[in-house]
Amino acid sequence: MKTKGRRLLEISGKEEIARETGADFWTGKTSCWETCHCPPSIKNECPVSTYTFLPCWEIEGTFCKLQKHGAIVTGTDTSICAICRIYKKYGGGRAIELKLSGKGIDSAMNHRQGRKG
Ligand code: SF4
Repeated sequence: MKTKGRRLLEISGKEEIARETGADFWTGKTSCWETCHCPPSIKNECPVSTYTFLPCWEIEGTFCKLQKHGAIVTGTDTSICAICRIYKKYGGGRAIELKLSGKGIDSAMNHRQGRKG
């Protein structure tokens, strides 16, 4: 079983490789922000447009995953992805697993409010 620290290290490595190779999940595809017509104010804050080496459903805290639980905002519930046309089109039937955490809108909002999410 992978520890969270190990998985984050793996992501760091993957991010490094993506930077070096210019790997981009959305190459040749219609991105989620295009399909959903996200305005620039949302697209620019959403981690999907920064971490393009991963599909949106593998990134915590995308705009569409945000949920408010009292004072805390979370972005880990991928149940919306399971029924999303973008995942259905590009997910290849693979199980949904979050691979990048702590970079999303949820983290930014909780940080701004001085809370841990
Ligand atoms: S609901 Fe999930 S699969 Fe659909 S656009 Fe949002 S993050 Fe991507």
